[in-house]
Amino acid sequence: MMEHGQLAEDEAVYAQLRKLKLRPTSARICVLTALQQQREEALPAERIFLQLIQTGVTISLGTVYRVLTELEQHGLVQREWPPLDPAGKSRFMLIPVLAAPMVCSMVCPLCQSEHAVTDKLLLEALRRQARAAGFERGLAATAITLMCDRCTAGS
Ligand SMILES: [Zn+2]
Repeated sequence: MMEHGQLAEDEAVYAQLRKLKLRPTSARICVLTALQQQREEALPAERIFLQLIQTGVTISLGTVYRVLTELEQHGLVQREWPPLDPAGKSRFMLIPVLAAPMVCSMVCPLCQSEHAVTDKLLLEALRRQARAAGFERGLAATAITLMCDRCTAGS
């Protein structure tokens, strides 16, 4: 268990729940904290359950499942299915919180003119793509290189 940065992590858990307007019940906080301590890989609900029991938390497997599903519905947790094992259990993982709001802009490679992309759906789609490809951490700013009309019209 990590001691370093623990307070900041706890604060982040509360902040996330507040943002989702979810009451910070002990079950939600325990499950979120367990997920935060294991950011590298997705965990099956049973592992989270055992981890909590080992740290002295009184919780049932059913509650762990319920909280995970609830957090998934609120977009805080993503569920993964092991691709090689069709009978395998689904695993859960915290969707990383971006340190900075994502900024995306179109940039013309010739004249360097820039136009900010503000389409929420597009930004969300980019975020999903980046996450799936393992580019999440560097996603504070994205540039789409694309020639502007003036330059395409010929200089
Ligand atoms: Zn241009």
